Amino acid sequence: MQEAAGRNRGSLQLRHVDAGSCNGCELEITSMSSPVYDVERFGIRLEASPRHVDGLLVTGPVTRNMADPLRRTFEAVPQPRVVVAVGDCALDCGVFAGAYGVQGSVCDVMPVDLAIPGCPPHPATIISALRGLAGT
Ligand code: SF4
Repeated sequence: MQEAAGRNRGSLQLRHVDAGSCNGCELEITSMSSPVYDVERFGIRLEASPRHVDGLLVTGPVTRNMADPLRRTFEAVPQPRVVVAVGDCALDCGVFAGAYGVQGSVCDVMPVDLAIPGCPPHPATIISALRGLAGT
């Protein structure tokens, strides 16, 4: 795990990248910002620019079309940076394993610091894992 993952500085800014998911994981990630879960009260925010974040939140298997954009987005994040893989597809390609358009899992493309399993993982599960990273 890279240095940023252990900082526990009280906040965590992430850029979300859908590398080829079914959008099920996106529904749960979107729910994190609802009034029910209100993830921002823990200092955890999704930001638009990879240049303004601590790391990436990646969902889905990595499709052949998304492998290079995902790598370029990773390179745009300042160091030290973290990568959080969300959902079974991000971890091991899940139900899309072996599909013709899939290049591999997220860890086949870049180092993964935190893996959150589930299909899809519950918003509370994702928030709990991210809070561990943020130290909040
Ligand atoms: S883990 Fe499940 S919900 Fe998430 S992208 Fe894969 S199939 Fe969809």
